[in-house]
Amino acid sequence: MSANDYGIAHQLAPELGVDTWHDAAGQPLAAYGLADMPGRYKLIFCFQDNCPGCHRSGFPTLIKLFEAFRRSPTINFAAVQTVFEEFEHNTAERGFANQQRYALPIPFGHDAGPDGTGSALMKRYRSGGTPWFILIDPNGVVLFNHYHVDADRLIDYLRDAEAKGAAPVPAGVLNWAGVLRLARDGNPEPPRRLELGDTEWRARLTPEQFHVTRRKGTEPAHSSAMCALFEPGRYACACCGTELFDAGSKFDSRSGWPSFTQALSPDVVAYHADASHGMQRIETTCNICDAHLGHVFPDGPAPSGLRYCINALALSKC
Ligand code: FE
Repeated sequence: MSANDYGIAHQLAPELGVDTWHDAAGQPLAAYGLADMPGRYKLIFCFQDNCPGCHRSGFPTLIKLFEAFRRSPTINFAAVQTVFEEFEHNTAERGFANQQRYALPIPFGHDAGPDGTGSALMKRYRSGGTPWFILIDPNGVVLFNHYHVDADRLIDYLRDAEAKGAAPVPAGVLNWAGVLRLARDGNPEPPRRLELGDTEWRARLTPEQFHVTRRKGTEPAHSSAMCALFEPGRYACACCGTELFDAGSKFDSRSGWPSFTQALSPDVVAYHADASHGMQRIETTCNICDAHLGHVFPDGPAPSGLRYCINALALSKC
């Protein structure tokens, strides 16, 4: 596996799944989790007691970050011993001893997994080992996860976020965390449904449209004049005619595919986790006829921050 195969950046942060905790004062805690961390950002530091890199660079980085935000409500910290090797050494006792050793008044967890064969947090967060830093943003999305963090850059980033204050997404605008929740928990009820068989779709569509919309195909980048079209109007599903996007939300992403920042209404587009082609992506479909439209990414413009990357063959301008 390469470094890129680790971590779950841009995904919803799962619950930590750690059963054994000490509180900030070193006393046993019955339970602790993300809901107990009220800061806008959360930083989870994963270590093992016998890991030289954890002591050489991991803990010093954590201490630098903690000192910078000691009295700030911006960020909460927790450290977890995520044990995946040398179980006889990386015991709870030795893990917890680091709280005093580094004088860190933050909750410490010990996680050798529910059956003692390996850290549950590590599996949930697909961590690459130790040290491992996980930064979770105010929407509950994993912003960053890696062996190393540039403390100075992160401090600047968080101070900037602190100065700007909370910038809530306007009501009715779906953001990335909302997309991830729909993909995980289920999509809104469609306003209506159209379900046809392949024979009927083939009769209604060109072969290229059929391939993209009914077989999850992707048209070549820069293959459609629709990318450069910025006239007012609406973009409808090429299969069922339901209006999906307004031209006002279309923008020039330079990706080679028509791009939008939001759907016309919350119930016309559906979202699905898509692990094809070795990537973790969110597929978008027409919520009325299930036509494959394209994907949505968290790198679009404000206010939604979304980029709906849609095949022109799945759309008709109206
Ligand atoms: Fe449709």
